[in-house]
Amino acid sequence: MVIIGGGIMGASTAYHLAKRGLTDVILLERDLLAQGSTGLSVGGIRQQFSHPANIKLSQESVRVFERFEEEFGVDIKFRQAGYLFLSRKEETWREFLSSVETQRNLGVPVEILAPEGIRMRWPYLNVEDILGGTFGPKDGYADPYLATMGFAGAARKLGVQIEELTKATEIKTAGGKVQGVLTTRGPVSCPVVVNAAGAWAAEVVRTAGLDLPVKPYRRQVFMTTAFEALPKPVPMIIDQDVSFYLRGADPGIILGMSDPKEPSSFHLNVDREFMEKVVEEAIHRVPALETARILRGWAGLYEVTPDDNPIIGGIPFLSGFYCACGFSGHGFQQGPAVGRILSQLILEGSTDFDLKPFAYHRFAAKSEGERKAV
Ligand SMILES: Cc1cc2nc3c(=O)[nH]c(=O)nc-3n(C[C@H](O)[C@H](O)[C@H](O)COP(=O)(O)OP(=O)(O)OC[C@H]3O[C@@H](n4cnc5c(N)ncnc54)[C@H](O)[C@@H]3O)c2cc1C
Repeated sequence: MVIIGGGIMGASTAYHLAKRGLTDVILLERDLLAQGSTGLSVGGIRQQFSHPANIKLSQESVRVFERFEEEFGVDIKFRQAGYLFLSRKEETWREFLSSVETQRNLGVPVEILAPEGIRMRWPYLNVEDILGGTFGPKDGYADPYLATMGFAGAARKLGVQIEELTKATEIKTAGGKVQGVLTTRGPVSCPVVVNAAGAWAAEVVRTAGLDLPVKPYRRQVFMTTAFEALPKPVPMIIDQDVSFYLRGADPGIILGMSDPKEPSSFHLNVDREFMEKVVEEAIHRVPALETARILRGWAGLYEVTPDDNPIIGGIPFLSGFYCACGFSGHGFQQGPAVGRILSQLILEGSTDFDLKPFAYHRFAAKSEGERKAV
């Protein structure tokens, strides 16, 4: 079996396949491990989603992150500093409250906070234009590079062959079945291929003559120099109505924002004008950040599907071809669960996790107008 992509998805899937006894696995990474979106992400881990399937994926992953060092011998710097979602608009607030109901029904600890309660807990936050917030104390962040290396190291120990600097250039098929993969280091015959190529997943599938609705979008992030003015731990704080976020990142603060006008592209440049907008939002929400200095910025790619949710499982018309891609901005945290679920699906033909919400064929029925973020 071949896995294409050495980010969190590929590494976790390789580990889980080997743990279940399938060690004849080759993981291909055209660069070095975790240099794609995984290594460029900000490592947020939350159970506060609106769709039950996303909540369940994250709940399973959190359990893995909590005992990661025990299982893999790697300290991934998992800090359950919490996730604080803030709402400025009535409509957003109503959505938050409805999501909290779903989350609590599934056993997620989450608090509903009025602006005054938020100000008392985090006095550095400006809450003048905030209607309320929700806080998940068990949410937090970890180091995505270290987590990927933990999975990859354990997979290697179990016998998985990890080939870095090796690109998959074509999926070979015959009679609707996978036959193998051509790579920059020669061909590999195999009946099963896993597409864990992140923002490049559609390119991989195109080599087999098929389409995958996964598009790349640049996302920029900035890190301040050491900043001690905010009491620790600084949770992940999401200013939902402007898609701005910040979190503590010893010794600085990470700042990020999605730009709704950003077109799909593979661009990875950092844009100074956009940085100024991010800094403006940061100072609005945390006035103390006025004295912070930006140390560096970087950009990575979200891998976005029409409904912002992933494609997990097989695809029609090509037997032996599996996908774990299209995770938008929440793939790191779901990697541990997705690897387990996909390995079970591949080896047993079915899984105990209901993958219907993430099935490839849902897009055939949905038009752009029916987009719904979860
Ligand atoms: C700025 C930013 C912030 C983010 N923040 C968060 C967050 O807080 N929490 C969260 O959960 N998620 C976050 N994400 C999303 C998260 O990073 C991704 O969803 C996740 O890393 C996807 O993992 P992956 O393994 O599928 O993809 P990747 O890590 O991109 O791995 C895919 C790999 O495939 C390789 N590849 C591609 N084509 C080929 C080929 N033909 N042959 C061989 N190899 C190939 C690439 O080189 C790459 O290494 C963020 C993303 C960005 C960009």
